[in-house]
Amino acid sequence: MGTTHQYEVVIVGAGPAGMCAALYTGRSMLRTVVLERGMPGGELLNTEKLDDWIGEQSILGWELAKKFEDHARLFGAEFVTANVTTVSRLDDGTFATVTDTGDVYRSPAVIVTAGGTPIKLGIPGEQEFAGKGVSYCAICDGAFFRNQTIAVVGGGDAAVEEADFLTRYAAKVYVVHRRDSFRASKILQERLFANPKIEVVWNSVAEEVLGDEQGLMKGLVIRNVETNATSTLDATGCFIFIGFRPNTGIIDEHFDHDPMGYIVTDAMMQTSIPGLFAAGDLRSQLTRQVTTAVGDATTAAIAVEKFLKARSEGTEIDPRGSGGYAV
Ligand SMILES: Cc1cc2nc3c(=O)[nH]c(=O)nc-3n(C[C@H](O)[C@H](O)[C@H](O)COP(=O)(O)OP(=O)(O)OC[C@H]3O[C@@H](n4cnc5c(N)ncnc54)[C@H](O)[C@@H]3O)c2cc1C
Repeated sequence: MGTTHQYEVVIVGAGPAGMCAALYTGRSMLRTVVLERGMPGGELLNTEKLDDWIGEQSILGWELAKKFEDHARLFGAEFVTANVTTVSRLDDGTFATVTDTGDVYRSPAVIVTAGGTPIKLGIPGEQEFAGKGVSYCAICDGAFFRNQTIAVVGGGDAAVEEADFLTRYAAKVYVVHRRDSFRASKILQERLFANPKIEVVWNSVAEEVLGDEQGLMKGLVIRNVETNATSTLDATGCFIFIGFRPNTGIIDEHFDHDPMGYIVTDAMMQTSIPGLFAAGDLRSQLTRQVTTAVGDATTAAIAVEKFLKARSEGTEIDPRGSGGYAV
């Protein structure tokens, strides 16, 4: 039998977005709980090193995660280890956030920052060499592969666009695709075919990531699906772009989303459900980085404060910018 808890703000997920939102709601003296199913950090814990977090030329993922957590706690946010199963809006417009142990967190506002999950190939070596050659993010990790030979797996827009992007760093990029044509848009394909650093390996699937004695990736075993012949690409990197799933299944009511399932919000990060805000990787937007996640979260937290004020006064939320640097 679970327990019912009352908060002003419930935040689901303690990745960069969740922790930054908690920092701001904590600073606003709103009673906040962050519900996280694992360790605080989110995808930072799967990131070896970041060299694009402004102010730090290089920082380890876990180290940045710890800094975020300590900073959010400093302003009073409570962290609870809990796997959220549903976020429901009740008849009175408030929310019940329920965990798999049956605990219920009641609040007038919720910020969902549950991120998303890159779809994995599920082949031997993929997990072992993640961050040591295997990556799911070109903009994050491309610069670590200067003058190297790498493979990109996939055939949609992300794979084709990122393969082209990765040639800024890599000497050669193989694009391994299981069919004999791409699903990607024509313009992206044209760019890819015109790029002399790219070689497409058609009708082939990745079978295994190989490593060396130092624990770094040294090759990718591929299989031609027509002939069944296997071969090995001498690649020190493998970027996998076969899809990304936003973690939105916990929201048990219709919410506006884009064709890929990402949550659509307004400029205040409010979803189509009043009082339900979203920030970070699960939000429909151009890019997914730590900087954009914390930017979203800052806006969401300040908007929540305005939302709660308007709610207590029986007025509408004022979208004008008076949070932070007032003009
Ligand atoms: C391998 C890799 C390398 C990257 N490198 C970089 C980089 O160098 N620079 C950069 O800027 N960005 C990088 N990124 C992207 C960056 O990590 C993300 O944009 C950022 O972490 C998004 O933050 P978020 O808080 O929205 O989501 P996440 O970091 O995904 O955090 C979401 C959190 O929600 C929790 N959660 C989900 N569902 C539930 C639930 N039901 N109940 C409770 N908790 C839940 C998860 O456990 C997780 O902790 C990288 C991403 C990957 C995958």
